Amino acid sequence: MGAPVIGRFAPSPTGPLHAGSLVAALASWLDARALHGRWLVRIEDVDTPRCVPGMDQVILQQLAALGLIADEPPLAQSTRGAAYQAALDRLLAAGAAYPCGCSRRDIERALAAAGQPRQRFHAAVYPGTCRSGLHGRSPRAWRLRTERAGAGGAADQRVDWFDRRLGAQHQNVSREVGDFVLRRADGLWAYQLAVVVDDAAQQVTHVVRGEDLADNTARQILLQRALGLPTPAYLHTPLVLGRDGHKLSKQNGAAALDLRDPVRTLQAAAAVLGLPRLDAPTPQAWLQQAVPAWAGIMRDR
Ligand SMILES: [Zn+2]
Repeated sequence: MGAPVIGRFAPSPTGPLHAGSLVAALASWLDARALHGRWLVRIEDVDTPRCVPGMDQVILQQLAALGLIADEPPLAQSTRGAAYQAALDRLLAAGAAYPCGCSRRDIERALAAAGQPRQRFHAAVYPGTCRSGLHGRSPRAWRLRTERAGAGGAADQRVDWFDRRLGAQHQNVSREVGDFVLRRADGLWAYQLAVVVDDAAQQVTHVVRGEDLADNTARQILLQRALGLPTPAYLHTPLVLGRDGHKLSKQNGAAALDLRDPVRTLQAAAAVLGLPRLDAPTPQAWLQQAVPAWAGIMRDR
């Protein structure tokens, strides 16, 4: 028998849940229940300047109104600094991470000097300036070393991973992302490190989240390997697009969930996931019917 299944929903308390975030919440709940597992909620409030005080409670109330109740008290990332620091210390001790003294301007200059000026709308791939030391500068941020030391010199790290909906995926993290930040110059913990440390601490076996987060997966798998942590199964759910064709998000003013008719709201999220229409008088009864429907979809995939 394998490890017990544990799924999770990990909202950022930057605004109330909207139709798009409910799709990921519902899918993660259905998946955990269909696999006879447990379902956890984690409040991803590491990016503190964007978090709204009290919004975690609003989100938990929205979930509860839809019958989505976590099996444990929610974990808040803002309480986890010591665990993130311990993970960073381990990476530093193993030579897998290093301090970086570069400002954004330093990075742009180094890229321009190397003939790789940053393209608009593309994040700069860190040129590796501080890989061999700070050369007298002070550390600003901490980065993960994404190249693997080999007999013939440093080698790129390509991560191959499998998405339960999207199929085989791969990313050359060294080339496409570069040595990414674990702790930012403003002292905040980077999303990647927090997620990896918390998924392991909560023993999460099945990550189900929105497709907009799929691009982070290869980086998170590299971090899991560097920390000697297990890699969970991944499933990225379809995004809900607004009228302008962009993904619904708190940033573009997506409306909070309409909870006047919870079954109808669940039904709308379920349709995005390809579930059939289910007739039920209450959210709880609807969810009970939706579990075997989800299991069927996953079996036929
Ligand atoms: Zn640097």
